[in-house]
Amino acid sequence: MTAATPATRREYEYIVVGLGGIGSGAAYWLSRRAGVDVLGLEQFELGHVRGESQDHSRIIRYSYHTPGYVALAARAYAAWRTVGAEAGEPLVLRTGGLDIWPAGSIIPIEQYTGSLEAVGVPFERIGADEVMHRWPQWRLAGDETAIHQADGGIAMAARANAAHQRLARAHGATLLDRAPVTAIRSAGDEVEVVAGGITYRGRQLVIAGGPWSNALLRDLGLHLPLEVTQEQVTYFRPADPAAYAPERFPVWIWMADPCFYGFPIFGEPGTKAARDAGGRVVTAETRTFEPDLAAVADVERFLARHLPGSLGEVLYTKTCLYTLTPDRDFVLDAVPGAPNVHVAIGAGHAFKFASAIGEILAELAIDGWTPTDLTPFAIDRPILQMADPPTSYMV
Ligand SMILES: Cc1cc2nc3c(=O)[nH]c(=O)nc-3n(C[C@H](O)[C@H](O)[C@H](O)COP(=O)(O)OP(=O)(O)OC[C@H]3O[C@@H](n4cnc5c(N)ncnc54)[C@H](O)[C@@H]3O)c2cc1C
Repeated sequence: MTAATPATRREYEYIVVGLGGIGSGAAYWLSRRAGVDVLGLEQFELGHVRGESQDHSRIIRYSYHTPGYVALAARAYAAWRTVGAEAGEPLVLRTGGLDIWPAGSIIPIEQYTGSLEAVGVPFERIGADEVMHRWPQWRLAGDETAIHQADGGIAMAARANAAHQRLARAHGATLLDRAPVTAIRSAGDEVEVVAGGITYRGRQLVIAGGPWSNALLRDLGLHLPLEVTQEQVTYFRPADPAAYAPERFPVWIWMADPCFYGFPIFGEPGTKAARDAGGRVVTAETRTFEPDLAAVADVERFLARHLPGSLGEVLYTKTCLYTLTPDRDFVLDAVPGAPNVHVAIGAGHAFKFASAIGEILAELAIDGWTPTDLTPFAIDRPILQMADPPTSYMV
């Protein structure tokens, strides 16, 4: 296609709608290969906090319940290394990761250990006493079992999003913010996207709309059974900050229902902890930015029991949205009947994979295939065909 200034150009090869975590990753990986032929469109300002991706930290880990996710995590670490090297700054901080199963948890630990073994990722399975010996910050009942995986840690979300965006632009991509997409058309091997009243044309389209996904898919005749929930994280100021430094305190997940998770001190002068899922069902329009104080109290009760030293003054609680599929698996697929329109939905656990998913989307758009097995993420899998599917949000 012919080059023109970003202000006047209307035709691109590749268009990405939504520049949150995943869309910024897609724009970056597309731009590495297609440079000026990439257009990214974001409805708000880059780095806004209305979506899913903007905080200091997200957990990154190999430990997952299927070999497919463990293998995808290997791609994720590799992708972050590549972007970090190009950005000249680390985007992942290794703290170690501790997943703790209380006795009687409904989450099968064997799925996790078996999946790590199947992919050849080293880990240790340890008991409660060993956990408390190595990390005396923990108070456990004694009958818990844990997995420690040394590569677990923090994906530096806000920094990584900014790096993807900065580098995509450096490769020649045009990223337009405050450009809400109001219409999408797909005809043959062309797509048309209307943003801010201007029509852009392209050959391949990536839709990474997070909580707005169904609104974006409507023009393509698609509606997925997604549930958007309002979640939150809380930062606490511990009395002894040194005990919660990243070198001394691994990221952690309490593998039970309800599931809690947390971080060492990073980005703020405090630890961060939260309950996974269980937030109010909302839409991107009806959500608020008000903390749910009952949910904060749940987290405080958990910390008082198991990590008492990490509990201190609340610095603040930050709300955020999950876009949940009923089985909590991603959607990574083309729209049925529109093979040049690729959709990515992160199901409330995708930040760690954001760059790798961006790379996969670039492969799908440019090459028409990816070496990663996307079968579990098919857009037409049976559960996504159901109007009122059963939900299972444990991962
Ligand atoms: C509290 C919380 C904790 C989490 N913890 C973890 C964790 O520890 N580890 C982990 O891996 N994941 C975690 N996640 C999940 C992860 O953050 C998300 O899966 C991921 O960020 C999703 O990114 P996204 O790009 O799909 O969505 P978003 O970041 O929401 O991006 C979608 C973008 O599309 C834009 N958009 C939508 N409609 C339009 C339109 N019409 N025109 C233009 N632009 C549009 C939006 O404005 C938005 O910027 C957590 C999420 C939350 C909320």
